[in-house]
Amino acid sequence: MTEFSTQKHFIGGQFVAAASGNTFDLINPATEACTTDAARGDAADIDAAVRAAREVFDAGVWSRAKPSFRRKVLFRAADLIEARSEEIVRLQTLEMGSPLGPEMKGPHPVMARSAWNLRFFAEEQEQAGDHAFNRDDSLLTYTMTDAAGVFGLITPWNGPIMLSTWKMAPCLAYGNSAVHKPSELSSLSIRVLCEIYEEAGMPPGVYNMVLGYGQEAGVPLVAHEDVTGISFTGSPRTARDIAERAARTLKRTSFELGGKSANIIFADADLKKAIPAAAGGIFMNSGQVCVAGSRILVQRSIYDEFLSGFEQAAAAWKPDDPMVRGTRLGPLVSKGQYERVMSYLDLAREEGRILFGGERPDGFEKGFYVQPTAIVDVSPRARVCQEEIFGPVATILPFEDADEAIAIANGTTYGLAGYIWTGSQDTAHYVSHRLQTGMIWINSGFDRDLRQPFGGMKASGLGREGGGLSREFYTETRFASFPLTPR
Ligand code: NAD
Repeated sequence: MTEFSTQKHFIGGQFVAAASGNTFDLINPATEACTTDAARGDAADIDAAVRAAREVFDAGVWSRAKPSFRRKVLFRAADLIEARSEEIVRLQTLEMGSPLGPEMKGPHPVMARSAWNLRFFAEEQEQAGDHAFNRDDSLLTYTMTDAAGVFGLITPWNGPIMLSTWKMAPCLAYGNSAVHKPSELSSLSIRVLCEIYEEAGMPPGVYNMVLGYGQEAGVPLVAHEDVTGISFTGSPRTARDIAERAARTLKRTSFELGGKSANIIFADADLKKAIPAAAGGIFMNSGQVCVAGSRILVQRSIYDEFLSGFEQAAAAWKPDDPMVRGTRLGPLVSKGQYERVMSYLDLAREEGRILFGGERPDGFEKGFYVQPTAIVDVSPRARVCQEEIFGPVATILPFEDADEAIAIANGTTYGLAGYIWTGSQDTAHYVSHRLQTGMIWINSGFDRDLRQPFGGMKASGLGREGGGLSREFYTETRFASFPLTPR
């Protein structure tokens, strides 16, 4: 074991071991060595966390506090995330292999975005108001929007702090308490966030965090009678299980799930921008991004030109040690994920042809590294074009015209994001209206305005989060009404 002691839960403002005393190992995906171990949560820990969360919710010190108080605390927390950016990014590299990136003067962009999540909802809750319905002088009726209770927040490992703050920010800003179950594969960086909330002055018990596996800690959180709702980011398979269990206690749920997003490149696109963006869209974070443009659809007249440009662009994504400054492509998160991606590459050799990549890179005997890979000569119905691989693996398919591109793009069970590269506004508008995806980026990628409805259609999600939609999910809206005596 190393510089790290056993990672603990955070319950009622205290770092605590698992009630059972059990732990599990945290593996560094770049070296396959054990970094440390972590409390292995189960139903007893979840129950303690829910009780702490409920107690503080009922006491009202946060749930009924002035919005300006919550704003102050969340702004302080945002400042602390930025101040501790380097430390958090390093822990994320150790836990899930995302590259440190180049040396930066200010906070890492992903930490700046995490801080923005907090600031955005801290302001949103302060500015939001209720409605009065004035009909005539005989009735006064108005809405009241209040914190709803205790939420279970269940998050994946592929953007540990950014995706967690995206859920915590609205949950906590609107006055709820939270029990957070981060992924077992990202159990290191989350400690810093617990320390930050404490330092920022958040009352103990408002934010609680239980480490552990989905089956052991996630399931009892979903099943707990005293949890009001579950906000989940992860795979559709887990979402189905959560939906079934949550239904038994009539919990509200919000699901942000996986994708197999189409990146559609028309012949009139600016290829100087579209090609590097297509490479970044599938190789960033080793392809472990929910909105990765994993199916690249290219108009046939530029198909060959695109393939050679894409292969050149991919060369800039050389796998290397994620701790080395400047590395762009680190390892996959885990042995399980590595084996999964490798099995899809075997399948790709049967279903189509590997244009480049497809192997473990030379010189990496240890670590879960995979070369950036492109699959071609494959049917849009092939499994490698239908299933989310979640690795640095693009399938590249030709199309004749907009209608064929739309048909291929919509021909999956997923519907998270779509990308359109074209010089024509008419084409962009025509295709955007017909793509069955929750989010569409035109001649760009990943730009966000946090007021937008983030989420997916079909198997990519249920519900939207962002701006006022998050407020709807994390609050209880009621009305009060009383008759007036007309004079
Ligand atoms: P996952 O579904 O395996 O796990 C997600 C979380 O759920 C983890 O914390 C896990 O411990 C927990 N969990 C597992 N089984 C559970 C159960 N039965 N009950 C309750 N909790 C349970 O997903 P993952 O492998 O961690 O993440 C990758 C997936 O997440 C991909 O499909 C990716 O596209 C998706 N994702 C979606 C978004 C989005 O915003 N749409 C963002 C990031 C990742």
